[in-house]
Amino acid sequence: MMTQTFKRLTWFNQINVYLISTPQGPVLVDSAAPGMFGWLVKSLRQVGLTPAQLAGVVVTHFHIDHVGTAMALQKCGVPVYALAPEVPILMGEVPHSGYGGTAGKIMLAAERLLFGNPSFSGIRSLSVGQKLFGTQWRAIAAPGHTPGSLALYNEDTGDLLSGDTLVSDFGCPRANLSFFTPDRDRLVESALNLMALEPKYIHPGHGKPLPLLAYAKVKEQLISKSSR
Ligand SMILES: [Zn+2]
Repeated sequence: MMTQTFKRLTWFNQINVYLISTPQGPVLVDSAAPGMFGWLVKSLRQVGLTPAQLAGVVVTHFHIDHVGTAMALQKCGVPVYALAPEVPILMGEVPHSGYGGTAGKIMLAAERLLFGNPSFSGIRSLSVGQKLFGTQWRAIAAPGHTPGSLALYNEDTGDLLSGDTLVSDFGCPRANLSFFTPDRDRLVESALNLMALEPKYIHPGHGKPLPLLAYAKVKEQLISKSSR
């Protein structure tokens, strides 16, 4: 049995991508923000890889700071995967699910102005419960932040890649109830579902990885929100 190792490649602990070993080759989880392809190439080089050696890139959701270099990777022949509900959004067939509140509307307008309305072709679909690339990493649905947000859980090691559902930016563990999340009730439900898996470690899309224990207070707050 191969060792199911993975590595975090981080941009100042603010933006994380993860490199997981699979029998089919290294797979990237998330692809950072637009303009970060140079950073990604350099980070991959430091672990002895080139983009073309990747067997795939799995994006946890369609937000721009997670799919920023995915088109460049596609051009290197790397297939891009997302959970089924996210695929039509990435392909431009279904509109962006928006961000919450007025601040979110302004943010989305600014994003459109800067980056246009990117649409991908040929995104491959993952289903809930699917094990990825012959590993123990399983696709878990975590809707709320976006309709098809994905987390990956490795039941052998207890590691959870939580995408933007549970984050720890600026050292502070939290569920992502920011204006970037339009459906906060579903986010609360998803965050509690992820914690119920009892992962040993939570590796977020933003911030430092932390043990589940660090999220104890977050869990209490979420439970009180969900029982209101
Ligand atoms: Zn996001």
